[in-house]
Amino acid sequence: MKYDDTNIFARILRGELPAHKVYEDDTAIAFMDLMPQGTGHTLVLPRAPSRNLLDADPATFGPLMAVVQKIARATKEAFAADGVTVMQFNEPAAGQTVYHLHVHVLPRFEGVALKPHTGQMEKPEVLAANAEKIRAVLANS
Ligand code: AMP
Repeated sequence: MKYDDTNIFARILRGELPAHKVYEDDTAIAFMDLMPQGTGHTLVLPRAPSRNLLDADPATFGPLMAVVQKIARATKEAFAADGVTVMQFNEPAAGQTVYHLHVHVLPRFEGVALKPHTGQMEKPEVLAANAEKIRAVLANS
């Protein structure tokens, strides 16, 4: 399947749609997941267009994972989490619903299960407050 540049994340990358951004640089951006599976659920995207991991240029992965690590550390600190789950889905059979490569970063808390994937939409004020907490940690690191 070919990359379709009308996907939601391509539109966020172009600034055509809003997002609760927590970080951006030349290679990647990170913003809050609209339907979080847990507190602080953040998505990290490379700017380079690819549908998912399967068609991506391998040169994408180094800078992308460096940002994933930065966000994993920041979300763990921002929410005083016990751990961090990192997930990435490829094609519908694997659970992918938006077709621009992205990595899920999920702060995890002992004994707290993840909510369903693409379940309930979070309130904008909660997403805004959580994004602010992550940005505050990043600003001090
Ligand atoms: P995936 O199923 O791996 O393709 O993940 C797509 C993720 O994007 C899901 O967790 C959705 O909750 C999330 N999502 C969908 N639309 C938006 C949006 N406009 N802004 C932020 N997150 C979104």
